[in-house]
Parts: sequence; structure tokens; C-alpha cells
Amino acid sequence: MTMVEQTEMHPSRWGDPARATALPDTARGLIEMVFGLDERPALEDVKVPASAIDPALLAELAGTLGAEHVLTDDATRRLRTRGKSTPDLLRQRSGDLSDAPDAVVRPASHDDVAAVLDWAVQHHVAVVPFGGGTSVTGGLAARRDGFAGLVSLDLIRMKRLLEVDHTSMTATLEPGLRGPEAEALLEAEGLTLGHYPQSFEYATIGGFAATRSSGQSSAGYGRFDALVVGLRLATPRGEVSLGSAPANAAGPDLRQLFLGSEGAFGVITAVTVRVRRLPAQKLYEGWRWPSFVEGAAAMRTLAQAGLLPTVIRLSDESETAINLARPDEIGGQSTGGCMMITGYEGEPDAVAAKRAAVTSVLEGIGGQSLGEEPGASWAKGRFDAPYLRDSLLDVGVLVETLETATFWSDMDALYDGVKTALTESLGEGTMVLCHISHVYETGCSLYFTVAQKAAEDSLAQWLAAKAAACDAITEVGATITHHHAVGTDHKPWLSAEIGDLGVSVLRAVKADLDPTGVLNPGVLIP
Ligand SMILES: Cc1cc2nc3c(=O)[nH]c(=O)nc-3n(C[C@H](O)[C@H](O)[C@H](O)COP(=O)(O)OP(=O)(O)OC[C@H]3O[C@@H](n4cnc5c(N)ncnc54)[C@H](O)[C@@H]3O)c2cc1C
Repeated sequence: MTMVEQTEMHPSRWGDPARATALPDTARGLIEMVFGLDERPALEDVKVPASAIDPALLAELAGTLGAEHVLTDDATRRLRTRGKSTPDLLRQRSGDLSDAPDAVVRPASHDDVAAVLDWAVQHHVAVVPFGGGTSVTGGLAARRDGFAGLVSLDLIRMKRLLEVDHTSMTATLEPGLRGPEAEALLEAEGLTLGHYPQSFEYATIGGFAATRSSGQSSAGYGRFDALVVGLRLATPRGEVSLGSAPANAAGPDLRQLFLGSEGAFGVITAVTVRVRRLPAQKLYEGWRWPSFVEGAAAMRTLAQAGLLPTVIRLSDESETAINLARPDEIGGQSTGGCMMITGYEGEPDAVAAKRAAVTSVLEGIGGQSLGEEPGASWAKGRFDAPYLRDSLLDVGVLVETLETATFWSDMDALYDGVKTALTESLGEGTMVLCHISHVYETGCSLYFTVAQKAAEDSLAQWLAAKAAACDAITEVGATITHHHAVGTDHKPWLSAEIGDLGVSVLRAVKADLDPTGVLNPGVLIP
């Protein structure tokens, strides 16, 4: 298979540079009224720190990978610096590239990855696996002190569909495939994975597995970790290959140990996933609820009745009021109340049957159908909102998102606790919007979007607010992350969630698999 040419993201913005836009007029008016406009262009002409690794070491690696795949030029290293959280963007925008790797190395196979790890161990070089670079938790900002250098292990050349089993309905994919690339390869086989996080256009199969990502259709297809049936990894101690049966009782499920391991235990070189037949029909629609509480209760009713659609999400009153569920129309006329989006994917008969059953339940408990138009509008703009963040940063508005999850009985306390913490930290006029993004029988995930006028030091402003929100999450006993992973940003709260003994287990696994600690030092494990 030939390598797919991929568009690189702008180093200090989200997504395809060609799709970068100014604020839409409706949003601009709203922003001017609420926060005022304060143009803050990003620095374009920034200096990348010189590569600090001994060229003789790289020459050795070039012998294995080919010189064209061991890169030290500034442009390449800048593109592999950090991820895409707002703090990452603020640092990049201000010209802080202190986390730039010394080199970017591009293996083409499992054996190449293993060879890079052998080399890294031998010379004590830190290695940061790089998939799509969409981390929002500092997962790519590894510690470099004490190492002979730090290299970004870029999986961009590992983009093959290795195997399809139409009988078992599984497919084995290489880690560097971005969402659309993986879907295109599967579509040619009449199949789909159905994993659509908002970062779908850039994030990769390896990254989904390494972070335990969850997509917008998780109610129907499942979160990514639920889709994985097998994994292959290269570690400094050798190969790990897991997934000999769909389920097993052969001790603890080690697949779960490596899912979410964020490059700290090994490099994922192949992922076997459960796949579905391409849906013949996709249908999305809108519902209006008088309040967030009533909409959430409706979601719980559906989940506990085993009646979840493929997509289900509910915006709170504030998010509905500014139309965030419909990025084309932010600041425009909203429906009032709370907007819910439901979506159905599958064979027409199955779609019709599920839709009828869901409609009957929702109408019976106070939901008002808004028809297909709001659903189609959400589906059309579902990957656009991240571009808005850059436009807002450009006019001096600090904007960021965070997510968590809890059981239904604690949802109200979590919602109130996070909102209060963010508002108290960021001050009067803070906009805190929320939606329920993922739903289970036992609970749900809350996803917050926050906006406030940027202070002079907007990075410090956000880090203080985020710490306050994380403290509030921990106090309620909710998870520090439902799908964004731990990275470096959530590390201080991990032991509150899994206990000191839990952290010690992770350290022991790391010590066994990566005794010299070259893999993503400082990421995941406190
Ligand atoms: C705008 C935006 C929207 C987002 N929306 C969602 C969403 O809806 N749902 C969601 O779950 N997440 C979302 N995210 C977060 C992010 O996209 C996910 O965490 C994603 O799974 C990361 O994939 P990636 O390929 O970009 O990984 P990267 O960012 O490249 O890496 C993430 C971490 O995994 C490690 N890693 C990457 N590849 C491998 C590998 N092959 N082997 C071992 N370790 C590896 C890296 O070292 C790093 O620690 C969003 C992010 C942004 C910026």
C-alpha cells in the first residue's frame, strides 16, 4: 500500500490551515458584546531551539530507517511539538517551543519501531510516540532532563490496513492511520469502525488506543477501548501481542493495561478492532427539553431501558442558548430550553424500529421533537467547532474545554461543582457551557466549554481555572478524565482517583517494560 499524503495542521492552530476562518459575524457580535475584542495575533516567526542530540547517534539510526526518515529541520520539529490543548496553543502562539524534539524519526514497521527503541535504550534517548498530535492533556510534552536527547517517534508511515476478517468482523490497522484514512480503507471493504471523536480528521488509530478515546457515536458503536480486540506493541523489553479470542478468562485482561497507557509502556504498532457493516442509513434529529435536568433524566431512561440511539447528546441551557451544538449558527436564534441530538445508523428497518421506540419514550416524558433539521445541522458542523477556538484566541478570548464522568446520582453535584469552580477562578462574566457527551446505564460524561476575556497572562489564568475544576471533580469523586487521558496535565489528580497503591502498580509495570524509562518520561505516571 502506498503512503497517504497527509495535510499537516498549522503548528499553532487546530486543523487544516486552509479551513482557518475569522469569527462568523453572528459570533463576533456576541463576543464583542460579552467580552470586547482585543486582537492578539499569534507570533508566526518563531525560533525553534537548536537540536541538542549528538548527530553521530542520529547517523546510527539513519542507517536503520534511512536518512530521509531521521529529520532535524526546524519546520518538522515545530510540527511535532506538543499537542492541541489551549495551553499548548498559547505556548506556541507566544513562541515558546521549548518542548520541541531534537529529531523526528519515522519508522515504517513494527521492526523499525523495535529498532528505534533498542537504539534509544542503548543511548538513553527519550522517545515520544506521535500519532495525530491532537492530545489535549500534555501527552506529548515528555520530560527530557537526564536524557541524551528527545525524539518524536512519528507513526506517519504506518498507515496500512493489515487484515480484514469478514467472518469474525474484525480488522487489523496500523497505528498511524488517521480517522478518515481508516474509515476509507474499511469502507472499501463495506465496513466501518464508527469511531468519530471531534478530532476524527487528525487523530490516529494508535492515539485512540493509547488514550482510550470516545467518539460522538459511542452510544451505538462503543468507546474505542470497547472496539479493540487485539493489540501489538513494541516495548524496550520486546514484543507484546494480545487478543487471541474475543473474550477470555486468562487472568486479568492485559489489553486493558495497554489501552490508555499513553506511550509509557510501549509503542502500539497494530490494533485489531471490531467492525460493523457500513450503515445504509444515517439519520439525526433534534429534541427540545424544558431543562437540562429533564433532558438528562430522559437520557437515563433510554440507557436503562436498553434503547440508546447511535448518537445522543444534550446541551445545557447556556450551550443551547448560544447554539454551540450548531457551530454555523452560534449567536443566532436558538430553540430555548435544552437541545438534544439523537442519531440512528444502520439498516433502514432497524433505524425505523429504534427511532419509533425512542420517540415513543421521549414524547411520553415531555420531549418535543424538532425534526431532522437541527440533527442535520449538527452533523454538518460536527468537526468545525475547534476552528472557532483559534478565531476566539485571535480576538483575546480565552476558550478551552474539559471533560469528566460520574454516576447518575452524582451528576448534579458534579455539574454544579465544576461550574462554580470555573466561575470563581475566572471571575464574573465567565461563560461555562456544558453538554452530556456520552451516556451509560449507570452514568454519563459531562463536557464543559469555558470562555472568558483573556488576561495578560492567559496561560496562568487557564491553568489556575483548570486546577480548580480538577479539584472540584476530585471532591465529588468523579473521574479526572472520561476520554482525554492523563498526559502530564491530569497527573497531579491521578492518585486521588486510583489510590497510591494503584499508582505504584503502574510504576511497577513501567519499571518492568521500560526499565531505563525512555518511553514518554513524565507522561501518565506520577
Ligand atoms: C479539537 C479536539 C477535539 C477532540 N475531541 C475528542 C473527542 O471527541 N473524543 C476523544 O476521546 N478525544 C478527543 N480529543 C483528544 C484527542 O484527539 C484524543 O486523545 C486522541 O485519541 C489522540 O489521538 P492522536 O493520534 O492525536 O494521539 P497523539 O496526540 O499523537 O498522542 C496522544 C498520546 O498517545 C501516545 N501515542 C500516540 N500514538 C501512540 C502509539 N501508536 N503507541 C503508543 N502511544 C501512542 C502519545 O505519546 C501521547 O501520549 C480532541 C482533541 C482536540 C484537539
